[in-house]
Amino acid sequence: MQEELGILIKAQYPLLSLVTFEEERAEQAIAKIAENSKPQRRVFIWTLTHGMVEYGQPRVTQHNTVSPQAAIDWVIRQNTPGIFVFKDLHPFLDGMGNAEVIRWIRDAVASFKGTDKAIVLMSPVQQVPIELEKEVVVLNFLLPNMAELNQVLSRQLEKSRSRRINTETREKLLKAALGLTRDEAEKVYRKAQVTAGRLTESEVEIVLSEKKQLIRRNGILEYIEEDETIDSIGGLEELKKWLKQRSNAFTERAREYGLPQPKGMLILGVPGCGKSLIAKTTSRLWGLPLLRLDMGRVYDGSTVGRSEANLRSALRTAESISPAILFIDELDKAFAGGAGSADSDGGTSSRIFGSFLTWMQEKTSPVFVMATANRVERLPGEFLRKGRFDEIFFVDLPNPDEREEIFKIHLSKRRRDISRFDIAQLAKVSDGFSGAEIEQALIAAMYEAFAQDREFTQLDIIAAIKSTLPLSKTMTEQVTALRDWARQRARPAASSVAEYQRMEF
Ligand code: ATP
Repeated sequence: MQEELGILIKAQYPLLSLVTFEEERAEQAIAKIAENSKPQRRVFIWTLTHGMVEYGQPRVTQHNTVSPQAAIDWVIRQNTPGIFVFKDLHPFLDGMGNAEVIRWIRDAVASFKGTDKAIVLMSPVQQVPIELEKEVVVLNFLLPNMAELNQVLSRQLEKSRSRRINTETREKLLKAALGLTRDEAEKVYRKAQVTAGRLTESEVEIVLSEKKQLIRRNGILEYIEEDETIDSIGGLEELKKWLKQRSNAFTERAREYGLPQPKGMLILGVPGCGKSLIAKTTSRLWGLPLLRLDMGRVYDGSTVGRSEANLRSALRTAESISPAILFIDELDKAFAGGAGSADSDGGTSSRIFGSFLTWMQEKTSPVFVMATANRVERLPGEFLRKGRFDEIFFVDLPNPDEREEIFKIHLSKRRRDISRFDIAQLAKVSDGFSGAEIEQALIAAMYEAFAQDREFTQLDIIAAIKSTLPLSKTMTEQVTALRDWARQRARPAASSVAEYQRMEF
């Protein structure tokens, strides 16, 4: 990105928008570009608090430049080559009674033709009014890469006069901090050092756990840790096989073999049949971090452009931690309405939907999107188009064999010896039950017996099953509609169905 910024400045692009939270790092990058450009350019930074101040010089505000209009006027009058950075000008660019500032910027841009002057709008929010859309180039200032983190780490090691660390440890410490801003990386290295009194391989865990904390604090992405393995899921053999085959899909070896990086998968299915569980256990199977994108938190109507900024920042964090799995639960709810919802919320959801699709289309970093959905009719058609996901799987209600497996898994979790249960009978009486309902029936049976101060039995479980009305009965229409739809368009997750369908065609 820094390179691109340099090229644009050299090519005399008059107006750039740099989206970042890392002001200091971005300023340093701009200063470096200015120093290396021919002719050399001066860098001025504008803030609403201090007006226009020259970068790297004692803080002296240029005469009467605190108001944005006056500052832009001042910039227009400068004759020397320069980069003029406006920090947080976005509240003045929302088109709400700030027409004057936007007009001043247009005047400035027009006056820059043939000069070595450029304005950089720096802010954490991407805010481009329609009047400037054709003039501005938007750049996302990327999080630090390994080389930049290496500088941070080296400085920390120097400061603490730690003994040298070997290349492998260094690489692990750097990888652990990927996804953090420079300030955050500095903080976690310092904390790891203070906690352990040194920075060695065993401190990688501290750095990682600090990173998880920071990601949690960001509030939109959640770092999920799952203890269950894929073997604690009953049935869904086809789906498991597909996932197991791709265990090494993100390795260098797979690239050398000529395989493309998997993009993502969509798991459609009846509620409570293990969709989320599959997503979570895949993270363990593939040995990749699992980041849950909470779309509810992406939407933020407090300021214009805030939701888009949230989504962008979350996706960028996921990319910088990659290879990683980005888990979006209930995609149907997250993007309900998609492109068609422009009227209800000023177009925010359709813009968010558009940004997400573009990101999915263009992403080159190894972020595997794992999405689940219960309702196809609410899912924007764009997601179902071929090529968007590598595969769309349909997870149906478990068949009798799968129900047996699910009973075995959940009974074994709770009792060491399960030979006293007639599992085949339990599978038979629980026809139409989802995995979650089977688990709930089992828990209900245990509560019943526990209240009577005795061990639970086969009969307790059967009684609990009999007193449960499964979703497949209460929502027959919805389940049937989903099945009919999926039969034509999605790949069945259970092997029995898959074999049956293969025979049919
Ligand atoms: P929803 O659509 O309601 O979010 P889901 O399909 O994502 O449901 P999960 O949340 O994964 O379902 O399932 C809930 C719980 O039910 C799981 O944590 C697990 O304990 C149990 N369960 C569901 N399906 C299975 C299965 N096939 N094998 C074992 N346990 C299962």
